[in-house]
Amino acid sequence: DGFERRIAASVLVIGTGGAGLRAAIELAERGVGVLAVGKRPKADAHTTLAAGGINAALATMDPQDTWQQHAADTLQESYLLADPRTVRIVTEGAARGIADLERYGTPFAREADGRISQRFFGAHTYRRTAFSGDYTGLEIQRALVRRATELDVPILDTVHITRLLVRHNVVFGAYGFDLGDGSRYVIHADAVILATGGHTRIWRRTSSRRDENTGDTFRLAVLAGARIRDPELVQFHPSGLLEPEDAAGTLVSEAARGEGGKLLNALGERFMARYDPERMELSTRDRVALAAYTEIKEGRGTPRGGVRLDVSHLPRETIMTRLPRVHQTLLELQMLDITQDPIEIAPTAHYSMGGVRVRPEDHSTDVDGLYAIGEAASGLHGANRLGGNSLIELLVYGRIVGEAAAAYSASLQAQRRCPLALAEARREVDRMLACDGPENVRVLQRGVRDIMTEHCGVVRDEAGLRAGLAELDAVEARIGAIGVHPDNAGYQDLAHAFDLKSTVLAARATLEAALERRETRGCHNRSDYPGLEESMQVNLVWSGPGKVEREEIPPIPAPIAALMRHVSSDGKLVE
Ligand code: FAD
Repeated sequence: DGFERRIAASVLVIGTGGAGLRAAIELAERGVGVLAVGKRPKADAHTTLAAGGINAALATMDPQDTWQQHAADTLQESYLLADPRTVRIVTEGAARGIADLERYGTPFAREADGRISQRFFGAHTYRRTAFSGDYTGLEIQRALVRRATELDVPILDTVHITRLLVRHNVVFGAYGFDLGDGSRYVIHADAVILATGGHTRIWRRTSSRRDENTGDTFRLAVLAGARIRDPELVQFHPSGLLEPEDAAGTLVSEAARGEGGKLLNALGERFMARYDPERMELSTRDRVALAAYTEIKEGRGTPRGGVRLDVSHLPRETIMTRLPRVHQTLLELQMLDITQDPIEIAPTAHYSMGGVRVRPEDHSTDVDGLYAIGEAASGLHGANRLGGNSLIELLVYGRIVGEAAAAYSASLQAQRRCPLALAEARREVDRMLACDGPENVRVLQRGVRDIMTEHCGVVRDEAGLRAGLAELDAVEARIGAIGVHPDNAGYQDLAHAFDLKSTVLAARATLEAALERRETRGCHNRSDYPGLEESMQVNLVWSGPGKVEREEIPPIPAPIAALMRHVSSDGKLVE
């Protein structure tokens, strides 16, 4: 307790999910001294939960496919809020990302002649989602961990980072503590890559794991001087499990719809016919989630408040080879055999499309030497993420940011350090450990999740969002009286206290931006502003309480716009 280790690395990567590991591999392959830290076991990062697949226009199944069409589909489904430069970099670089994974030994599913197999995911023009059964994220994470191990990348996955260390807007490291023994870490680095994931755990029902995605990215970035873009744009996945309570939100992969699953309400109607008759279950996530939400809200849901997803009509062989994980999960959690019975599901917080505001070319931030990647960053998905686009983003930008951080580190004349910033980080943890009040961190955490679920879920309105902010103020006031008591089992209690601080900050950013976005667009449904508002075709940039600015988005290049089905010649969205 209180013992402080000092470590130095040229580049510090915070986060050992797919994004962080890919960046660390790039740095190690370039011979740059890198250290990767995470707050849960690397073999079990959030990335391992990804199931359905990873996108690249490889054209193995549909020869007409091109990266330009992938870009057009991505921009279309972003409701024009994605940055066309980011979209180009990811879609054009996607094939290389897949080649990297093959090099690291990811076992992709293949056709009989050896081609990588690709399947349909909702709202893609062609089949371009590569996969490994429905364990794609797990296989990718395994391959990345293996490659990082080969390269001797040091990985500390029991370190909770509480602060970035910054002097005069230049990052010089990070501060944190060990989750097991509470010892402190002072990590000095020329450059820091934030790969700390999204903020979906701040809702009650979420596809995320416990104690991850609590909004750490937002707090670390904002306290360092970076800004958050589009925090209100959160994807609710249509199919999260309702039960058991402690696994609420566990995802049923979109692949279940992709392979031919049907969505039914309590009356047995295939309700997507009412919302998107052309695409039915293959419609986009935002539309399917809103449809399911509406069916439940209007009384056509199951008694437990869900709808049904049925794959029992599919051949058993298809289920066992294409959806093995869904099959296994339902057996484990509910003793339900999906070859026989439908699955009860409801919308669940799934993906943070917003995140740290970064420059498209290298994902640098407003702070010199600080980069953000993966779900922690923003720019690719706008108001709706296409399934399979997140994993490819990790691969493409992991490489690019690794390269950029290496160059930045090499260009530095001398490392800048600042005893004051370090002392402040140290004091913050000391103060937290000294908290001995009556308030329970878990209860307050639950309180924030209730607020977000109640007031900032699939459908939002001004009155609710304002009520949410007022309730959040009340929770925040109680944080002053929490008790923090590490025990023999470790420093989880201290970690939860920091998680709570992050959660409150992330919730505030999300509520404030949701209030400011007075329109309905993609995942963001405002019942008081049901239409798309042209003047809101901007990003919202949040830099602290009460500070939300609008930022213009560059135009879509004409050749890409020409491939978009629902965009007019002057760049407006049309139905
Ligand atoms: P994460 O994997 O979330 O990693 C974050 C890392 O940061 C972790 O190591 C964590 O410990 C660390 N960290 C966080 N805070 C701190 C801190 N304070 N101190 C130290 N370390 C910290 N995408 C697709 O493209 N295709 C799919 O089929 C798909 N399916 C999905 C299915 C599920 C159930 C879920 C939940 C997501 C799915 N996604 C899918 C999305 C995709 O998995 C994620 O967006 C992606 O894995 C995020 O990776 P990441 O590396 O950015 O962050």
